[in-house]
Amino acid sequence: MLLKNFFIGLSQNQLMNNMAQKYGFKLGAQSVVAGTNIEEMIESVKELNAVGISCTIDNLGEFVYQREEATKAKEQILDVIEAIYQNQVDAHISLKPTQLGLDIDYFFCLENLTEIVRKAHQYDIFVNVDMEDHTHKQPSFNLVDELAKEYDNVGTVIQSYFYRAEEDIKKYKDFRLRLVKGAYQEPEEVAFQDKKDIDRNLIKLIGYHLLHGKFTSIATHDHHIINHVKEFVKAHNISKEKFEFQMLYGFRKDLQFQLAKEGYKFCTYVPFGTDWYGYFMRRLAERPQNLNLMAKQVFNK
Ligand code: FAD
Repeated sequence: MLLKNFFIGLSQNQLMNNMAQKYGFKLGAQSVVAGTNIEEMIESVKELNAVGISCTIDNLGEFVYQREEATKAKEQILDVIEAIYQNQVDAHISLKPTQLGLDIDYFFCLENLTEIVRKAHQYDIFVNVDMEDHTHKQPSFNLVDELAKEYDNVGTVIQSYFYRAEEDIKKYKDFRLRLVKGAYQEPEEVAFQDKKDIDRNLIKLIGYHLLHGKFTSIATHDHHIINHVKEFVKAHNISKEKFEFQMLYGFRKDLQFQLAKEGYKFCTYVPFGTDWYGYFMRRLAERPQNLNLMAKQVFNK
């Protein structure tokens, strides 16, 4: 827990973030970040597509407080959509509302998101609104509600550590949803703290959405949850077309390939760009053993 707090603290440290950008600390990030530009990212996507894996692309960035920065992020995401279309790769978009100005002004953020979703809709590309910490949860759901009035290519995320997750999943059952445990340090007033409670709730949410909801993305590296899902879909005769597994780029690659080979739909979350610091630190907070993975990558080069 101490180590987790340490890395979460680092993920939110602006000074460290600036240093990482300025001095180009690689810290092994290249093992979990698919390049720093669109060309490198598209190459990674093509490699994954070649083995039957689709991708969701995250142009890294979050907690933006300047309008110019949010506008730049929007332009970059529009370029990613264009690149997906031009290269005809099997991929969609994941984005974070704070990257697009949620902390600056709700309506400014909505405008940015609308532009992105409109362009993606023209090309029949899905857009997932990622969920951040609890202070941004309700405004993010509000954004999704607004977008869904006009567009059907939008979905979002339910985090099982929240007490309210069950209520939320019922409200959003007609959406394509990604179900996760949750990556941020949350207070006990709003979220389960014990891993057992979080896991139990995730299993409950997965069962609910598989039986009653639209398409389900089960996003976890936890083989216990994955094995449970395999049994559950078999027992309930749920088609493999109704769900997919998702994992992060660079994590448990063997398991990713194996699941795809077994005929399950599989989607890899592909982050790319220069703003990798917060993302990278959160991965270390989730699983300090990830340091090993990254160290191996660095020293094997
Ligand atoms: P954990 O609880 O971290 O691990 C459980 C067990 O699985 C471990 O004890 C170990 O046995 C095994 N395991 C896990 N990782 C490994 C590994 N690398 N190698 C070997 N064994 C391993 N969070 C959000 O808050 N918002 C989001 O929008 C969001 N989007 C996500 C999208 C995707 C595709 C993924 C995969 C995660 C996302 N997350 C998001 C993060 C998520 O909430 C968790 O913080 C993160 O996935 C860690 O939890 P876990 O379920 O993978 O397993």
